[in-house]
Parts: sequence; structure tokens; C-alpha cells
Amino acid sequence: MQATWNKGARKAHLRRFLLIFLVSCLALGAISGGVISALQRNEKNQKLYLLESKANDIKDRLDRLTARVHAMAFALMAEKGNPESFDVLAPLVLQGWDENAGDIVRNVALAPEGVVQYVYPLEGNEPLIGYDLWEAAAPNPLTVETLQQGRVHITPPIPLVQGGLGLNISLPVTMPGEEASWGIVAIVVDPDKLIASFGLQELTDHQAEYALAYQDMDGSFVTLVESAPVEQPLSLSFTTENIQWEMCITGTSPLGIYAAAGLIAGIIAVSLLIAYTLNEQFHKKELHQLFRRLANTDSVTGCASRHYVYEALVDKSNGKWRDEKVQYGLAILDVDKFKQVNDTYGHEVGDEILQQIARMAMEKMNQKGDCVIRFGGDEFVLLFAGRTQDEMRAEMEQLLQDVRKITLEERPDIRATISIGGVHPQQMKEQPPIYKNMLRLADARLYEAKESGRDCIRM
Ligand code: GH3
Ligand code: MG
Repeated sequence: MQATWNKGARKAHLRRFLLIFLVSCLALGAISGGVISALQRNEKNQKLYLLESKANDIKDRLDRLTARVHAMAFALMAEKGNPESFDVLAPLVLQGWDENAGDIVRNVALAPEGVVQYVYPLEGNEPLIGYDLWEAAAPNPLTVETLQQGRVHITPPIPLVQGGLGLNISLPVTMPGEEASWGIVAIVVDPDKLIASFGLQELTDHQAEYALAYQDMDGSFVTLVESAPVEQPLSLSFTTENIQWEMCITGTSPLGIYAAAGLIAGIIAVSLLIAYTLNEQFHKKELHQLFRRLANTDSVTGCASRHYVYEALVDKSNGKWRDEKVQYGLAILDVDKFKQVNDTYGHEVGDEILQQIARMAMEKMNQKGDCVIRFGGDEFVLLFAGRTQDEMRAEMEQLLQDVRKITLEERPDIRATISIGGVHPQQMKEQPPIYKNMLRLADARLYEAKESGRDCIRM
């Protein structure tokens, strides 16, 4: 553990923490950005839908009002211009047949040749009698043109002769088969009640401010109603008869400063948590790998340790090779009279001899699957992967000779020899061979080699 927490390891740990933190910030930032823009797109679509449906509502409501003027005109034509049924018809037109119409219409009027002669209700509208609608409804050439073409004409809210403001919806009528115009049918609409009937407060319920404007005769837009100044508006234009409308509502609300700060703080906090958790996981994994490496490696010689055999090569439960396809030749190598070397020259010299023998064995045994294991003390187990008996014997012989040539720089007089007991898999009774049995046989042969005077091989 101490070894892993030197300065370099601490720096690497910190670097990795920062890297994970940054990657996490970027990833979370990108995800949040995507989510926010998707939400904003969604919100914009909802607002557009709201705007369109409200504009359609308004158009529909105005169309239903103009339908009343048309109804009056048809009734009049059916009566061949005789206004006698006006008293019966006018209350119906005033009241409307639309349940939601309320009392938006202030009065219904007939104006033969343009001069108002019939008004319902009369009360409150007396000044209208005798009033010339051609005059009133023709303050500009467009109005005249509209009326002359026999189309419905809607005025913006205008001051009424009987007082107050009203929207005049009028329609010129010509009797079938006649050239000259009979006159005008008109209704006057209360602008406040009309606007109220649009139900625009629904928009504010959906967090959208709104404004509705109509285009004046000079082309400029005049605001009819406005809930509040509309920021970043989504707007829509539509026409009813001669009037061009423009309606706008608040578009997507940008992320407020507090929401943005909260989001950034959230991303940083989550990234810190992710970086800490992942970094700890990586660190644990590294420690685990380090411990495994330490456990699998002999610290004096750098060979595989005895522990490694059961970790990687042999199934401890039955002593069989894990990979039975590889035929391992097994040999035990033991340094001769090593105790004496230690006793005479000291353990450090002994260690150096062990290290040189180990290095030599590892250099020579370089085929895939070969392994040199420090088995304990001055004893090594050599695993020869896929060799014939002759190849194995020759390699052991070469090693024996090379060890004889080992010299230590400080003590050139010291010589070392080894004895080896070897077993080839084909020499085993059981097939596939069992590791423990090979080990036992190799040990017996090593004993024979020692008994035969050492510095030799038995196989
Ligand atoms: P033999 O020829 O019969 O093998 O005689 P030997 O003296 O080598 O006897 P043995 O193999 O039983 O002795 C092993 C010696 O190895 C005992 C111990 O002093 C020494 N030894 C064990 N581990 C180490 C080590 O890590 N370093 C050193 N320098 N010596 C070790
Ligand atoms: Mg020995």
C-alpha cells in the first residue's frame, strides 16, 4: 500500500480524478444541453400550437358574427326587401345561435339606401336612427370598395354615434334581379365583450403573454389587446374579411440566470461524485492487480511465485493442469550445498547466486508457456511447454553447464552448481498427467541426483 502512495502515484491519482471530472462535466453538459434544447423545441411547438389554435378560435368567432349579418341579408332578400319581419328576426340575430356568443352584439340595424331606419334594440340606440351608414362606414376608399363589391366589411373599434366604442360589421344588400343596392344590414359588436369572448387568458395560464393587433388603413398595426409586453415573440398573421390581424405570444423562455447557475452547480457536483467514485474503483482495481502481481512474483529473483502455479496453471481442487492441451515437462532445480555458500559468504552473496540462476533459467526457457517458479529456498520448478523428452533433457543439460560458469564480480572464486530432477509428461502413468504426481516424481529424481554426487540431471 505504501509503495503505491508515493508522489508519482498520488499525482497520477489526481490526474485521473481531474480527467474523469472533466469528461463527466463535458458529457453531462452535452446531455443537459441536448435535453434543454429538446425541451425548448417542445415548448416552442406547444406555443405555436397554442397560437394557431387561438388564432383559429378568433377567426371562427368573427366568422360566426359575420354569419349573423349574412343571415339578416338572406332574410331580407326572402322578404324581397320588405323589412316588416325585422322585429321578429332582429332579436334572434342579436341573441345569436351560438351558446357561447353571450351579448357581444350591441344592436342590429337595417339601413335602406344606407340610412338607418330600423334598430334593435332601440333603447340606447336612438341617435342611430337616420344615421347614414355609407357615411359612417366609408371613412376611406377601401371601405367604399369593400361595400361596393358587396362583401362584408368590419371596422376596427370606432366611436359610435349613440356613445361608446363598437365594431361595425356591415354588408351591402342588392335584391335579386335589381341593379341598385337595396341598402345595408349591420351589426355593432361590443369590442370589450368580443375580446373577452376570445378567452385569451388561457394563454397566460400557459405562461405565455399575448398581444393581438389589427392592421390599420394606413398599414400600421394597432394593438387591440395586450397582456404584457411580449418578449421573444412567436407571431402569426391571419385575415378575417377585410381585416388583417397579427397575434403574438411569448416564445421559448431562455434558461434564467439562477436556473443556469443551478444546472452548472449540479453538473459540477454530480461530476465530482462520479470522478470520486470511479477513481476509487480504479484505485481499488489497481491495488488488487498490484497485490496479485506481488503474490505471483518472487521478490528476490523476479520469477513466478509458488502461489502463481495455483493461480494460473493448476486447478488446486484436482491437481490437474488447467490447460490440458499444453504438455508440460516439469523439473525441480536445487542449488548444491547452498547452505554452505550462505554460511561461508553470507546471505547477500547467496541471493546474488539465486538471482543469476533464476535470470539464466528465464532467459533459456523462452518458449510460449514456459515458466520458472521459485518454489522455496534454493529450489526452482521449471515448466517446459510442449518439448520432447530429448529437447527437455538437452535444455536442462545446457542450463547445468551454464550455471557452472556463473561468476560473481566481487567474488570470482565462488562457483555454483545445481542438481535437476526432471519428468516428461509421457513418462507419467496417468494421462493427462497430474501436476502433483509429476512434482513428486521430479522430487524423487532430484533426490537421486543429489545422492549421485550432485551437479547432474536425473530424468
Ligand atoms: P543440497 O545440496 O542438499 O541442496 O544442500 P543445501 O545446503 O543446498 O541444502 P538445502 O537445499 O536444504 O538448503 C537450502 C538453503 O537455502 C537453506 C537456506 O540457508 C538457504 N536459503 C533459503 N532461502 C534463501 C534465500 O532467500 N536467500 C539465501 N541467500 N539463502 C536462502
Ligand atoms: Mg540445495
